[in-house]
Amino acid sequence: MFFKSSKINEFRLWGLLLTMSGMGLMVLGTAGIVFWGQSGKVIAGIGLVIGLIAMMASMAIYFWAGMLSTSAVQLECPECHKLTKMLGKTDRCMFCKTILTLDPSQATITAEEIERQQTLGHSPETHTNVKKG
Ligand SMILES: [Zn+2]
Repeated sequence: MFFKSSKINEFRLWGLLLTMSGMGLMVLGTAGIVFWGQSGKVIAGIGLVIGLIAMMASMAIYFWAGMLSTSAVQLECPECHKLTKMLGKTDRCMFCKTILTLDPSQATITAEEIERQQTLGHSPETHTNVKKG
C-alpha cells in the first residue's frame, strides 16, 4: 500500500485520481481539435479513447471498493473509539490511522491493554488487537 491510510480510503483515492486523469485527457483531446484543427482530430481521438478507458477503470475500482466495503469488518477503533471498517486481517483505522490487526500473533498491544493504559473505565466491546507502527 502506498499511503498511510486504510485500504478502503486508498481505493477511493485511486478511483478519484483515475477519474480526474480520464476527464483531463478527454478535455485535452477535445482542446486538440481547437488548437491543431484537422491533425488534432487524431490526438483528440486517442485522448478520448484513453480517457474513456481510465474512466471505466475508475468506475470498476469504485465498484470493487463498494463490494469490498460490504465484506469489511466493522468495529470500534480501540484508539479513537470511532466506528471503522477494516479489510483483511490487518488494516489502518480510517480516522486515526492506527494499524489494527485481528491476528493476535501480529499484535504488540491488545484493545484491553489500551483500555487499561487510558484508564477510561470503558469496558472493551471488541477483541481487536493493535499493532503499533
Ligand atoms: Zn482510530
